Amino acid sequence: MRMPPPALVDTHCHLDLYADPAKAIRETDAQGVFTIAVTNTPSVFRTLVRLAGRSKHIRVALGLHPELARRRAAELPLFRELLSETRYVGEIGLDHVTGDDDDRAAQREVFDAILGWCHEAGDKILTVHSRRAAPDVVDAFGPSFRGTWILHWYSGSRRTLERALSYGAYLSVNPAMARSDKGRALLAAVPPERVLTETDGPFVKLDDGGPARPADAAIVVAGLAALWGITPDAAQRRVYDTFAALLRGRGVDKTIRD
Ligand code: MN
Repeated sequence: MRMPPPALVDTHCHLDLYADPAKAIRETDAQGVFTIAVTNTPSVFRTLVRLAGRSKHIRVALGLHPELARRRAAELPLFRELLSETRYVGEIGLDHVTGDDDDRAAQREVFDAILGWCHEAGDKILTVHSRRAAPDVVDAFGPSFRGTWILHWYSGSRRTLERALSYGAYLSVNPAMARSDKGRALLAAVPPERVLTETDGPFVKLDDGGPARPADAAIVVAGLAALWGITPDAAQRRVYDTFAALLRGRGVDKTIRD
């Protein structure tokens, strides 16, 4: 008898940004995909909790996206106020596509404040953006951050990724990464027990041009199965086990490095 595979996992999806968020939430929950629903500003957190808060499989994360940091810096006190209402944090991070010094300074201020509060809380699970800013993001966490951090859609160097892994980071892989040569080359350097799946829907598009949905984490699972030389069911189980251990607070054993 073959055991059915465990649930799919999507650690980074913008469920509030689909054309019909309530429908996206209903479908995701019905399909049983464990999903971290990230938000881009603190002011939408409670709205999404109202929509998704009763779902068995969806958890709403509190975020302040780096590209909105300057415009929404006034929402930082609200971030602090809401932080005790969730264990999940994102989307946060740094984005150095902007060359504007004021934008970068605002991102830095927001990111540092959030990391400080999360470190203090000690048990948060963070999904982190690091476009063109991977070394700065990894430095900001350092080796002794208290909490779990997941690099989302990582596109930096292999050397910086190895440093992040040595500090305890996880990596979440989406369909766009799984089909790019660079993404696959990076993945080969990551221990399987640090790999999670994400879709970053609706921003990531599928081959047919439609937005990725949490169930499309299956596409990533298929890519990981090929990379790891195991069946898709086994790859799905591995990702699920990684996520389950992380939720229990038994992810990376930080005591080894202390
Ligand atoms: Mn995102």
